[in-house]
Amino acid sequence: MKSWSIYIASLAALSISAAAASAQTKSGVDKLYILNCGEGVSGDISRWSPGVNVGKSMDFVDNCYLIHHTQGWLLWDTGVTDAIAAMPDGQAPADPKATHWRRPKTLISQLEGLGIKPADIKYLAVSHTHPDHVGNIKMFPQSTVLVQKAEYDWPTPFGQTLQAVASQVNKLEGDHDVFGDLSVTIIATPGHTPGHQSLLVKLPNTGALVLSGDAVHFKSNWDNRGVPSMNTDKDKTLASMQRIADVLAKETAQLWINHDKAQRDSLKMAPGFYD
Ligand SMILES: [Zn+2]
Repeated sequence: MKSWSIYIASLAALSISAAAASAQTKSGVDKLYILNCGEGVSGDISRWSPGVNVGKSMDFVDNCYLIHHTQGWLLWDTGVTDAIAAMPDGQAPADPKATHWRRPKTLISQLEGLGIKPADIKYLAVSHTHPDHVGNIKMFPQSTVLVQKAEYDWPTPFGQTLQAVASQVNKLEGDHDVFGDLSVTIIATPGHTPGHQSLLVKLPNTGALVLSGDAVHFKSNWDNRGVPSMNTDKDKTLASMQRIADVLAKETAQLWINHDKAQRDSLKMAPGFYD
């Protein structure tokens, strides 16, 4: 009798420790908001898909993603500068084939609407240093910026935007497990720029997502492996698209393409969220 009760007690202890272990490995991420970080019209979409749709314009959107983890907030990309919100006709590009951006809502107003101050952002991770992604990076001097060293060292005005920020910068060399529990992982996807990166997020109910950055700009380019003419390295771009495809398969993840308007129109924007 005694040995049975010890046996049962030890079984119970085992199941309690198994439950504790699974609680520990549970993702610390619980919320992801999509913020409107710009709306634009590209003058000639074939800049992004050489030889395809030459001379045709196309609507673009620009997203930022605000992610809550039990260790703090992470903001992925900052969009076009909030200053564009005050321009009645938006910001026309120097090259009419590029993108004419408008900003219906500022980033700061959307953060405030969620009760969040810039100083609450623990990590600011940017896919790359083009102005439609780092437009508000100076708003977050108290955050730690997570970028690839290759992007930081890129000897162009783009790379130099990082050297000018007041924030602490964590220069990464490859993939990076942001919170140490594999819930949010930066995936190095060079090619659009030298240190471009994408983000794998594992939400408890929605499941796994890959936020593309500009590893791809819209769905037909993903389906056809189109490489924009402005990319710094075509072969690395194609290898990065394959890397993303492999991550999607391994993690059974969805791909959320930052600039794809049709996809954004199908998603819930803040203050709605994904959990
Ligand atoms: Zn972009």
